[in-house]
Amino acid sequence: MTITFIDMTTSASVPTEPQGAVRGGGTVTDRLVEANQRYAAAFTDPGMDARPVLHVAVVACMDARLDLHAALGLELGDCHTIRNAGGVVTDDVIRSLTISQRALGTRSVVLIHHTGCGLESLTEDFRHDLEMEVGQRPAWAVESFRDVDQDVRQSMQRVRTSPFLLHKDDVRGFVFDVHTGLLREIDPA
Ligand SMILES: [Zn+2]
Repeated sequence: MTITFIDMTTSASVPTEPQGAVRGGGTVTDRLVEANQRYAAAFTDPGMDARPVLHVAVVACMDARLDLHAALGLELGDCHTIRNAGGVVTDDVIRSLTISQRALGTRSVVLIHHTGCGLESLTEDFRHDLEMEVGQRPAWAVESFRDVDQDVRQSMQRVRTSPFLLHKDDVRGFVFDVHTGLLREIDPA
């Protein structure tokens, strides 16, 4: 763990590189693959099975400012991490939670939305504009929102009312402040 962290810090803190992601002429993916080779060189198999140690699934926005493992003190193997734009509880998130609980033994669900989410600046017009542009209406909703607290509440509600989940007594929702790094819990009522 420590070696991996040092490795990542080193690669992320090289401000002298002029081209950033295109350093060395490669693409950003090339850089990721190079980083993986360093990661694997220092990696030792902890010998875990696939069931999360803490029996918890975290559903969060994909926002790049939210480092879930660091923010929640999570270690490798601790949790399932399910992320999408907004941390929205879509049918596909329910699919993942169902597998997480029924096949892999998780019992708690943590939902994390955050301040300054990109979905706050979108509306469902996004779908209409897409349709006008490409000639096909997406099957999915944008799931934009105005009130982040309310969005967390309705997400908790979607989890609690899902018929597929086994464990719905420990479902908690939070807003992560991207400026302070603090979580604020949302009252489900
Ligand atoms: Zn977001």
